[in-house]
Amino acid sequence: MDTDLAITPKRLGLIEIDSFCPRCYWYLLKQKFHPPFDHFGGAIFKSMEQAQMAVVGDLIEKDGSLPQEFAPFCDLVGRVQFPRNWRRFKHRLDSGVLLYGEPDDIFQVSDGSIAVIDFKTARPKDGKDPLLGCYRIQILGYSFIAEFGLKLGEVSRGGLLYWGAEHEKVVADPDKYYRSKSLWIPFVPKPLAFDIDYKQLDAPLKEAVRLWEADAPPEGARKCKDCRRLDALFAIESGVRELVTVSDQIMLNRSGNDPWIKSYVQQRIDDRLSARRSAMTDLQDLAGDLNFEYDGMIANWEVFHDQF
Ligand SMILES: [Zn+2]
Repeated sequence: MDTDLAITPKRLGLIEIDSFCPRCYWYLLKQKFHPPFDHFGGAIFKSMEQAQMAVVGDLIEKDGSLPQEFAPFCDLVGRVQFPRNWRRFKHRLDSGVLLYGEPDDIFQVSDGSIAVIDFKTARPKDGKDPLLGCYRIQILGYSFIAEFGLKLGEVSRGGLLYWGAEHEKVVADPDKYYRSKSLWIPFVPKPLAFDIDYKQLDAPLKEAVRLWEADAPPEGARKCKDCRRLDALFAIESGVRELVTVSDQIMLNRSGNDPWIKSYVQQRIDDRLSARRSAMTDLQDLAGDLNFEYDGMIANWEVFHDQF
């Protein structure tokens, strides 16, 4: 099937996280991943990333490789130049999907292959980062574009370079970390490599195309917190009229008011109404702690993890 879906590897990767919800993802796709009320600035992470890249570049330049704490990326021997611009760092797949968006860094490996690396400023999570599945797809997507779109070389390795903020050390010994009128927080490199297996891109690509091509939002994931927020949002302004969606109207018109379709649409309206009623009840019961939960999808996907 040919599709005009254009998507970045990191947005594609959201399909792989445990809290993935098809309904919320449908809304994100339709809004080109610019959901409302999203004003979180990520400038500090950009600055962190530039500092981390400078350190890595400097280490390679000095020693021709990286020290052992960067294993399994010690044999990176130089930086690969590539267009740092999503308009050029892209590749159209056979399905029609345009994958676009560039990684933080690409390196030459001593054996002549290349490595695709993304920097993540984060608290150390001991391999339990809930976004790992997303990052894996992100790296695979970048690697695919680098290898087949830009033909920069064979990607033998890809992964993350976490820089874990060890703020506990500062809290335990503040005197030691305040020097020369500055606060020095240690950031410790913690590398994580992924297998380069491009087949892993197939399932999320298929799901993203399915949702992109769908005219109406699918059922949400059970217990999706963002669906509750969405229902609450709709409930605040809802009248019965808005409960009949454009796709319902199209379906009804096309069917010539077929009684079965009519009762199906009525059922959908009833479901929406009851979802909104219960979301409204939740809102009234709630003392307003909707904002800082960890397990929603939209709320989660950019705030709690670095430059993601
Ligand atoms: Zn949802």
